[in-house]
Amino acid sequence: MNIHEYQAKELLKGFGAPVAEGVAITEVSQAEAAARQLPGPLYVVKSQIHAGGRGKGKFTELGPDAKGGVRLAKTIDEVVANVRDMLGNTLVTKQTGDAGKQVNRLYIEDGADIDRELYLSLLVDRAVGRVAFVVSTEGGMDIEAVAEATPEKIINVAIDPEAGVTSADVAKLNEALQLTGQAASDGETLFPILYKAFTEKDMSLLEINPLIVMTDGRLRVLDAKVSFDGNALFRHDDVKALRDESEEDAKEIEASKYDLAYVALDGDIGCMVNGAGLAMATMDIIKLYGKEPANFLDVGGGANKEKVTAAFKIITADPAVKGILVNIFGGIMKCDIIAEGVVAAVKEVGLKVPLVVRLEGTNVEKGKAILNESGLAITAADDLDDAAKKIVAAVG
Ligand code: GDP
Ligand code: MG
Repeated sequence: MNIHEYQAKELLKGFGAPVAEGVAITEVSQAEAAARQLPGPLYVVKSQIHAGGRGKGKFTELGPDAKGGVRLAKTIDEVVANVRDMLGNTLVTKQTGDAGKQVNRLYIEDGADIDRELYLSLLVDRAVGRVAFVVSTEGGMDIEAVAEATPEKIINVAIDPEAGVTSADVAKLNEALQLTGQAASDGETLFPILYKAFTEKDMSLLEINPLIVMTDGRLRVLDAKVSFDGNALFRHDDVKALRDESEEDAKEIEASKYDLAYVALDGDIGCMVNGAGLAMATMDIIKLYGKEPANFLDVGGGANKEKVTAAFKIITADPAVKGILVNIFGGIMKCDIIAEGVVAAVKEVGLKVPLVVRLEGTNVEKGKAILNESGLAITAADDLDDAAKKIVAAVG
């Protein structure tokens, strides 16, 4: 689960991290009062969407010469003018996809005078089984580009869970970030704070890009992106309360109600599969035959008729779907149960696009008989290859 920058900063502030003062607003009429609460003379107006790259983003409605989704303002009037310009418009960044995201909330922040922009993140490093800091002096810009061109500029410091952030770790981080004087002593306080926030709140990612050294030598968290481990949300009601469903895909929210692993994609062939491995293989083979999947959908090993029906409804409700491929291996779940689910779902929601079903495994003959005798326009396939060819041909 992801949260907004302003929420992440509020959370980190609670742990003692240095963040700027700021006020989140959703209406133009709130802009002036929000800015008046800040000291000035520099203000920043920041789009709150669940995507990075906002500074370099473009507003669809404003034309190519308009400024991006993070703007500096030198007066309160400028703040208000920027709020008027940005609020309600669609911001397209490297991470939003071409459709972009509507900016429904802005964060007005006290501006900082920046000396250096650094990169700092915390993540779970699965290779060593530890939470690790990933830092670089090359912050503020595209860290993926830094990783590609100059990987030696990215430094990884894994933390021993028993010892926590030690003074040796702090020294490594300070050196990697070339922090000295006040900034180094700020680092000494900040690194353990970030580690504590990460582990206590079950984060899966905490990315600060940039962490800045200000002209007065102090450190400040200038941007913050936080993702939480969905499997641990049950023990963090405070985190759950930060969820903004308007930022999430409506189909993914619906799927989560039925415990379906669903990810919306850009293609036009809807897939219903059981097992993540089979789902990946199905997506691959669709691509092999020249089409793109519209989604990843794993109904899981223990799916029943209700789940299959729910999954089918989610797929058919997507106007981008031009054909559906059901690929199920009946192991724990038997093929006849799946077939019944498919038939029930088709009868309930109707079928406006071609449907190819490939069943294999326990009770496969029974399952095929149910599909054949249903009187519905369902194309049966013998194997995965055959199924992919048939759906791609049907979609054209
Ligand atoms: P992102 O583009 O979504 O990553 O948004 P950021 O919060 O990282 O802001 C983008 C850039 O705007 C930063 O890298 C800074 O260069 C600039 N910026 C943001 N806040 C301030 C500020 O308080 N003062 C100054 N001078 N620049 C800022
Ligand atoms: Mg940033």
